[in-house]
Amino acid sequence: MLVNLEDVLGHAYRHGYAVGAFNVINLEFLNGILEAAERQRSPVVVQIAEVHFKYVDIEEITPAIQHMANRATVPVVLSLDHGESVGTIVRAIRCGFTAVMFDGSKLPFEENVEQTRLVVQIAHSVGVSVEAELGRVGSSEGAEGGVAREEFFTDPEQAEEFVRRTGVDALAVAIGNVHGFYRGEPKLDLERLKEIRDRTGIPLVLHGGSGIPDEDFRKAIGLGISKINYFTEMSRKALQRVKEVLQQDSRVVGLHDLILEAKEAIREEVEDRITVFGSAGVCERRNDICSTCQACDLGKGPVDEGRLVEMVTQTVIRMMQGGAHGTGGEQGHLGGQPRGRP
Ligand SMILES: [Zn+2]
Repeated sequence: MLVNLEDVLGHAYRHGYAVGAFNVINLEFLNGILEAAERQRSPVVVQIAEVHFKYVDIEEITPAIQHMANRATVPVVLSLDHGESVGTIVRAIRCGFTAVMFDGSKLPFEENVEQTRLVVQIAHSVGVSVEAELGRVGSSEGAEGGVAREEFFTDPEQAEEFVRRTGVDALAVAIGNVHGFYRGEPKLDLERLKEIRDRTGIPLVLHGGSGIPDEDFRKAIGLGISKINYFTEMSRKALQRVKEVLQQDSRVVGLHDLILEAKEAIREEVEDRITVFGSAGVCERRNDICSTCQACDLGKGPVDEGRLVEMVTQTVIRMMQGGAHGTGGEQGHLGGQPRGRP
């Protein structure tokens, strides 16, 4: 079911795991990611980065994502990744995204605060969660390589002020992470992360997940990282699979022969990451997450508009008969919709 980022991250933060946030650029990515989340019984964030708008039209793909997310039996967040202007934020909200990331990290501090605060006001007024960035995570998704520069690391004291003044729900930090592939060994500044966590008290986000060793992920999650953005390595794994198939299988006659292979490679990589991030099985172990989702109940039958109308009708009939205001799971389904959605 489609849910808010705030609800999913709040749960992750309290229970010491991180939710994987995987970028979608077409339906193969989407299918691979959602299949992985279902198989691992894990919440998941599906996101589209503004820098990828050249591959995907959000007005076109969002109805498909919403349809599939609402059919999924795990919580699914649909988020904008690195929105660069208030215009893009509003566009994503109008499409039906349940979260937005505004990236004002290239702006001077005061301007970043001002713009982020405006985004928070707009997004919160319609129940959409906001992630922002302070410090600067270099390079970009899918890029060739980068080196983290310490002068751009997030300053813990500034982070505290930023969170207090903007009211953001989650904060992306720069602690040695970069987008794309790493040039050399990534080295996370865990002391800095701990201080940011202690000063801000909100879920923190690690961008540039491709190439960070599993052990470092675990340490970072233990110090407040609740969402990990992951794209480049997932995309590379899909390419690698396609190359292998092309080399080995002379029966490949067209692109259609490769699409399923690419999707399978994406699914495998996402399942693997979900396990490392500690969110595998959360929908079984921690059924308190159901208070915000109820998606597993939906697994008992396909969710379509007809079923939703039927649920509402039954509730109204019970109310007219003087009964309870809808009982049990059915009320939960309706209550589980993202808050304040128009
Ligand atoms: Zn990022």
